[in-house]
Amino acid sequence: MPLDESWFTEICETDGSAFSLKIKQKLHEEQSEFQKIEIFETEKFGNLMVIDGCTMVSTRDNFVYHEMMSHPVLYAHPAPKRVLIIGGGDCGTLREVLKHPEVELVHQIDIDERVTRLSEIYFSELCESNDDPRAELMFIDGIKWVNDAAEDSYDIIIIDSTDPVGPAEGLFSRKFYSQCFRILGENGLVAQQSESPLLHMDIIKGMYQEIQEAGFIDTATLFFPQCIYPSGWWSATMACKDNALSGFRQEDAENKPFETQYYNASVHQAALSAPEFFYPKLTE
Ligand code: SAM
Repeated sequence: MPLDESWFTEICETDGSAFSLKIKQKLHEEQSEFQKIEIFETEKFGNLMVIDGCTMVSTRDNFVYHEMMSHPVLYAHPAPKRVLIIGGGDCGTLREVLKHPEVELVHQIDIDERVTRLSEIYFSELCESNDDPRAELMFIDGIKWVNDAAEDSYDIIIIDSTDPVGPAEGLFSRKFYSQCFRILGENGLVAQQSESPLLHMDIIKGMYQEIQEAGFIDTATLFFPQCIYPSGWWSATMACKDNALSGFRQEDAENKPFETQYYNASVHQAALSAPEFFYPKLTE
């Protein structure tokens, strides 16, 4: 039985599941050059952004995603100074990255300027660091940006994209990872949102293969809850250019000079613990 119009529902047809939030009103709807963007005011989750029918960000629970997309990879690098964010138009990951005082430069490349302009209105707290002099926001295809960038341009690349369909499809390919490999410096790291470990093992398996074929030495996945995404269980996958991903700057993480709501050193360690099925499924 479909819910009435006071609910937003993301239907996951292939898995016979759906997730709904009770809404107060639709605040905005537009078809940008790249995608359909909707903003709702919900009863209990604050504002909600939906792109092409898929939940992206809610005021209430985005902190888990944004903190796990940024802090683990930054603390896994010995000295992260130059960061590239591909996608990330809601600016929540950018805000977290800029909390690290050692970061000197962040380029954020989202294909769709409308996502950022709407976030400035409806998720202004996520955009509060956009004027930081270390940050530069540009609106072009991340694939083109990476293809054109010089060798050794960045220490970290965070791929905070939509699902691997439409404009984001190429961000999950060997060709793209090879360019990321080329433009990373020594000890360079990539972190990419990698969908649900319960529903999307085929995507994660494909990512591992493409990342390894692109030349990365080691790969590790972080697991965390994200209740508004399909299955409520999400992941981010990190890859290192020339080293094993064996540890992180634990002492620095324990003494982080900024506040978080989800991330801490213990969470970092725990998030790297893979469920029993995970690694065998990658080689099946
Ligand atoms: N947290 C979200 C999730 O996992 O559902 C993703 C956040 S987000 C707002 C994703 C962004 O990726 C969108 O703003 C979209 O415009 C951007 N994007 C998609 N394909 C892209 C591409 N090829 N280059 C740059 N940005 C891209």
